[in-house]
Amino acid sequence: MVQAVVGANWGDEGKGKITDMLAENADIIVRFQGGANAGHTIVNNYGKFALHTLPSGVFYKHTTSIIGNGVALNIPVLFNEIKSITDKNVPMPKILVSDRAQMVMPYHILFDQYEEERLAGKSFGSTKSGIAPFYSDKYAKIGFQVSELFDEAALREKIDRVIVQKNILLEHLYKKPLIDAEEIFNTLMEYKKMVEPYVCDVSAFLWNAIKEGKNILLEGQLGSLKDPDHGIYPMVTSSSTLAAYGAIGAGIPPYEIKKIITVVKAYSSAVGAGAFVSEIFGDEADELRKRGGDGGEYGATTGRPRRMGWFDCVATKYGCRIQGTTDVAFTVLDVLGYLDEIPVCVGYEIDGEVITDFPTTSKLEKAKPVLKTLPGWKEDIRGIKEYDKLPLNCRKYIEFIEEQIGFPITMVSNGPKREDIIIRNK
Ligand code: GDP
Repeated sequence: MVQAVVGANWGDEGKGKITDMLAENADIIVRFQGGANAGHTIVNNYGKFALHTLPSGVFYKHTTSIIGNGVALNIPVLFNEIKSITDKNVPMPKILVSDRAQMVMPYHILFDQYEEERLAGKSFGSTKSGIAPFYSDKYAKIGFQVSELFDEAALREKIDRVIVQKNILLEHLYKKPLIDAEEIFNTLMEYKKMVEPYVCDVSAFLWNAIKEGKNILLEGQLGSLKDPDHGIYPMVTSSSTLAAYGAIGAGIPPYEIKKIITVVKAYSSAVGAGAFVSEIFGDEADELRKRGGDGGEYGATTGRPRRMGWFDCVATKYGCRIQGTTDVAFTVLDVLGYLDEIPVCVGYEIDGEVITDFPTTSKLEKAKPVLKTLPGWKEDIRGIKEYDKLPLNCRKYIEFIEEQIGFPITMVSNGPKREDIIIRNK
């Protein structure tokens, strides 16, 4: 069976933990989109890890970790990440990289930096990992697939052709040093050495695995609101964050994705620019940021403080719908135990009208939150294993949100560890 683990919001919902937990019963975990621009934080017996490229199943001996064709593959990052986990005594994971995955080129990272510099105050808040230039090139058909590393003559010729365009931009738009074709070729040959042991026809591998009844997890990065089509365009990422894209980015039939587990955090956080209706500021935000996640809400890749907000039912209802949610995993609920009262955003007021359907970006910019305040539970809920043992006000908070979003909350995460999970049989 194939299941997807995806985010309903702006990312950082705790997908890594849920994937890591579900990976116990999985055979294969696949990354199908995005690149090293976002990270998952995982806490387990080996230590605490921030993964950017490897799927969150690499800590188990029985799983195969796959980088699908939809990923923006940064080969040195992959290589270093494998090293960083094996250095901490994690057994060498089984890793496969799609021969159709495209590679982040050194100049993609430079172009990302140069463009952010050029846009200055109007920038998108990119993590400067080269993701937008990478996907632009992929769709402009000047990207490089892993498979191309194995035909050196054709590769040389293509580099020469692609670099003409790049150098025009470097010289005239960015006024930066030009790219040297030979240097790029040599770098790619280094990449070839690093990636060669893992390269495989991933879609064929997965096809057979599905036939054999293997359990496959598709691990999404970021969340619905960062999807280029359905998110808060243009403050989005450059590849689809939706479970549906899992079929494309892994190369499997769409009808095989039977379960879509959408991860939803008990409050909101976001990174980068863009409208964030339920955002809070000042001391209130600092307190939540400090207590949030596991050791505070700071970016796993960049370390930058995340923007904080109350739970947003409008955004989450939409985020769950657009994912095609079958199950909601409600995470980081333990963090809210310090609050006397917990505001929740239940509607958006736009030009005097209250709506509960998530609007397009131009309207979103004008939206003001309609808040409803629920009583807090003022208790540490970590360690609780059964739903009925949760404090009444905590259950009321969960059930209120479940009703507002309209999708079943079947898992409640009350701590960063694998075992901090309450399964709710619905
Ligand atoms: P992802 O990108 O969706 O995987 O999310 P991140 O890893 O960026 O953020 C989730 C953070 O919350 C990490 O630091 C996790 O260790 C932590 N976390 C996940 N679930 C829980 C939970 O239920 N409670 C607490 N306190 N922390 C959690």
